Formats: sequence, structure tokens, C-alpha cells
Amino acid sequence: MIPYGRQSIDQDDIDAVIDVLKSDFLTCGPKVEEFEESLAGYCGAKHAVAVSNGTAALHVAMLAAGLGEGDRVVTSAITFLASANCAEFVGATADFADIDPVTRCVSTETLKSSWKDGVAAAVPVDFAGYPCVTKEMADFVHGKNALVIEDASHAIGGGRDGHKVGGLPWVDMTTFSFHPVKTMTTGEGGAILTNDETLAVRCRRFRSHGMIRGQGVWESSAGVESDTSAVQAGEDIPWLYAMSELGYNYRITDMQCALGLSQLGRLDRFVTRRQEIVARYNASFANVEGLTTPLRAPEAGIRVAWHLYVLQIDFARIQKKRAEFMSSLREQGIGTQVHYIPVNRQPYYRDKYGSELKPCPAADAYYASCLTIPLYPAMTDEDVGRVIHAVKEEVRS
Ligand SMILES: *Cc1c(COP(=O)(O)O)cnc(C)c1O
Repeated sequence: MIPYGRQSIDQDDIDAVIDVLKSDFLTCGPKVEEFEESLAGYCGAKHAVAVSNGTAALHVAMLAAGLGEGDRVVTSAITFLASANCAEFVGATADFADIDPVTRCVSTETLKSSWKDGVAAAVPVDFAGYPCVTKEMADFVHGKNALVIEDASHAIGGGRDGHKVGGLPWVDMTTFSFHPVKTMTTGEGGAILTNDETLAVRCRRFRSHGMIRGQGVWESSAGVESDTSAVQAGEDIPWLYAMSELGYNYRITDMQCALGLSQLGRLDRFVTRRQEIVARYNASFANVEGLTTPLRAPEAGIRVAWHLYVLQIDFARIQKKRAEFMSSLREQGIGTQVHYIPVNRQPYYRDKYGSELKPCPAADAYYASCLTIPLYPAMTDEDVGRVIHAVKEEVRS
């Protein structure tokens, strides 16, 4: 079976995890900081905060941004549920912008036309790896007094205009997911990247119960009276910690971070192999009637770290239903998937916001035609050939 996506784990990855298992710390140990530093260094960001998964990264970013009731958060209609749900977690209102049919991501134009009063953050999603956040887009969002929180779960290893995704200087926070189908993995895992020290400190705090350790934390608040006065008297109280905001346990383990460090060392190779496969798919599907390939010639200065290869298929024209197409490929040992059902169409959002939601016609048209075919670095040239042959046969038969 050739699945639509799959992790690449080698002996170094396995050894790295085993080393941690034999060490003193399984969590809250040195690998977490090491991973954060390497990740920040790779992306060219000042701070990285590693968390338990990509959804937690988005939730923590919302909390760090201080978003809550009365705020709106606008994201893409074509994304995984979590890009919108994170707004709802903090009591804000999720809202949706349509996609640009070529990039399949939100654009400055689609954000402008869907913008409503009270939007306090935009969560553009780098769908399939396309790094969609231009400086112009960020300038527009900042001009509305809102933050840019880039959901780059698909886009690690890519970049634009001289910067890597995760380090775009015009983005306030970027989130990653390290789920096994993503471009690099920690099993489960995620991270928030930012150049803003205050946001980074707040992300760390919300990752771990809202807790602050150390001297001084009780100085300004009434609390444990003896501790407060002891601190004021300059005494050393080593056990002190304080919680002034409500946080969670979204910590990541040292085993996971050791795997992440090892994977990060191979990330550029993963991206290159993905690009090779995409180039071969594009060349093979370019002139097939009924098929539209993903963006073949991204603008200058853009490096797309392809996470998914999504074909658009004119099912009416080839006179076949998508479900039939998928099951026929499955019978030939080829896995496919649909990314994604427009999130604004989900019952939760339709029931909650109903007519307040503007239609997203480009997202609907995309959804009617999309099919993700296999893409992962360990695919052999023979695997790729098999997929190309089977898809073409399916379209023509
Ligand atoms: C995978 C993904 C997430 C969530 O990440 P998890 O690690 O699965 O929680 C969020 N947004 C997008 C676009 C994703 O693809």
C-alpha cells in the first residue's frame, strides 16, 4: 500500500529516542530547549516554544495574543479544523475567508473582502506548503490592528522573500505541527515561533499551567503573606511559583524533542525529495484533460516545501464520482485523501453562526474537485511511476 503520506524514520532517529530513554529526564529535560533552539535557528526566528501538538500550538498562540470573548479570528475555509477551533477554545468567534483558487490559500484580497469589525487576528494557513503570508498581507492585517498568526503546519522548510517560514519578520507568531503525516515529525508535537519576547514568555507560561517560577512573583500580589514579606525582605525562597493566569499542560517530552532534533537535521533533504516528486507529477499530469495540477510556477523568491500533492479533477467531465475514483485506486494499493471539507460547512459552525457566515465559493469549487495523492520522501521512483500510471488510467477509462 502506498499511503497519501508517511513519516520517514531512520536508525539515527531511533537511537536519539533510545538515548533519552536511558537518560535522567524523559520530560522537562535538556532536549526540549535544544530542540527549541535548533528550530528557532533553522527558521531564523528569535524564539521557539515546543508544545504537545499543533492544535495546542494554535491554542497557546491565541492565549498569548490575549484573544477572547468579543474578538473575531479569521482563517481559511480550506484548512484542518484546528485553525478555526483554536479561536473557539478561548471564547473568540471563528470566521472564514475564501481561498485564492490558484494558491488555495487566503490572499490579501480574500481577507479584505471577508473582513468584519472585531477581527483581532488572522490565521492564514499555508495550505499544502505554499507560504501564503506576504508582507502586503501582514501590512493589511496590522493596519486593522490585528495580529498575524500563521498556521504553517504544512509549510516547515519553505520560505519566501529571503526568509524561512517560521521566521517571516512580518508575522507575529507561526505555528507548526509535527504529526507523522507532516513534513517532519515528533510523533505528536507542535511549536510556536516568534520574534517577540513578550509573546514567547506568555506562550511558555500557558504551556505549563500559567505558572511562573522564581523570586519576585509574589511581590505585587496578595497571597501567601509570609512568602510575600520574605521576598520583600530579600530572602531566598527556592520553592516559589505563582499562577496569575490560567494555563494548561501542553508540554512536549524529551523523547519527542530528541526525535525532532534528529528529523530537523534531515528536513532539507525531505523537502528536496518532495520537490522532485512534485516536479515529476506536474510534468506527467500537465496535459491530461480533466486534471488541474497545483501551482507549477510559484512567484520568484518562493520555496514551497510541498506537504500535500492535491490534484483538482473535473469529475463531471471524466464522468466518475470521487468515491469511485478513490476506491479504484485503493484496490490498486494507492491511498488518497480529501483535504479538506470547507470548515465553514461543518455542522458546528453552521449551527452556531448560520447566516452570519459569508459564502466561500472558491473553497466550495475547490472542494468539489480536490484529491490528495501520495507524497512523502520515502516514495521510490517506481512508487511515483505507479501512482502516475494509475491516476492517468483512472481519468481516461
Ligand atoms: C495538522 C494540522 C493542525 C493540527 O496539528 P496537530 O498536531 O494534529 O494537532 C493544524 N492546522 C493544520 C493546517 C494542520 O494540517
